[in-house]
Amino acid sequence: MSQGEFDIIKRYFQRSTNKVDGVEIGIGDDCAILDVPCDHQLAVTTDSLVSGVHFFEDVDAYRLGYKSLAVNLSDLAAMGATAKWVSLAITLPKIDEVWLAEFCRGFFALADKYNVKLIGGDTTKGPLSITVSAKGLVKTGQALTRCNAKIGDVIFVSGCLGDGALGLLVKLLATETELFTKDNQQAFVNALELTEPRLHLAKLLVGYASSCIDISDGLSQDLSHILNKSQCSAEITLENLPFSDAILNEIKLDHLSLSQVWQHAVNGGDDYELLFTIPADKVSAFKALLNTQSKYDDLACYEIGKITKQKQIECEKLTTASAVSSILFTYLQQPVDVNSTGWDHFK
Ligand code: ADP
Ligand code: MG
Repeated sequence: MSQGEFDIIKRYFQRSTNKVDGVEIGIGDDCAILDVPCDHQLAVTTDSLVSGVHFFEDVDAYRLGYKSLAVNLSDLAAMGATAKWVSLAITLPKIDEVWLAEFCRGFFALADKYNVKLIGGDTTKGPLSITVSAKGLVKTGQALTRCNAKIGDVIFVSGCLGDGALGLLVKLLATETELFTKDNQQAFVNALELTEPRLHLAKLLVGYASSCIDISDGLSQDLSHILNKSQCSAEITLENLPFSDAILNEIKLDHLSLSQVWQHAVNGGDDYELLFTIPADKVSAFKALLNTQSKYDDLACYEIGKITKQKQIECEKLTTASAVSSILFTYLQQPVDVNSTGWDHFK
């Protein structure tokens, strides 16, 4: 960017960092120089958010700043890493100081919450897009991957499912929609835009979880990644899926059927919850550990199924794509084809 680029960096992005944060050199030189403790490994992830693809062009700047960091921190959580540093490449169509101030307010609100330091980036002119790269630390050999789930492991999910996808639906149908109550619509949109990365829970999973992933593309797809890498299958009991008060309320009001909710929870994206497996003999110790953590209120997680021997799930009742998937969904012990439960966005 021309003139003003350095003013912008200084005014909005440059904040003091120091050795305590592991930052020897932060913003202002050609590279940042970071200290990685000798018994740790560096976990690195990058996610881009492009206007019109990942967010609506008129999205609130605070929420965009927040979410562009949140999706990256969620990837660090999925590896069991402690978030430390982040870089930010931002392409702006013009310098809009009010917009930039709000973007940074959202970005740093989340960064400060988890003590994550912005250590560099790039500022250019063009169609609005944001690329964040987050770096975290994990004890050597302790990273949680997708490849170690074993038969008999219990499958857990953090938080609630389906709200992010419903938030997207509300946004797509825009203001004229009266599908849901105003409060619940807001709750769904908040879930979509103010994602909470599960970094606190992630720390507790190290040493217990055999595999972990964050749910960005829906339970079904993200669980499949674990199953493929770990060469196993899974059974999910739909009656155990956790739903928010907003979803339960909409079911009660008859605005959503159970099968529509399953559809969003299983196939919708943007929940950014952690999906992980714990060996059966470690489950009670893990639950006991959770019970000792009164400091945090974001550790809720639920048992939703188990890992089974690798097989192609076949069942007469299953007709569509899920018939050849390696996930068997059941409700009250009956197989359910979640893909044919028929949610129609325009009905
Ligand atoms: P270079 O030309 O060497 O790539 P730049 O002139 O692009 O460096 O950036 C100057 C300094 O400001 C660098 O330390 C860079 O990491 C930092 N920086 C640039 N844009 C951002 C941004 N959006 N957020 C954080 N740091 C930034
Ligand atoms: Mg340079």
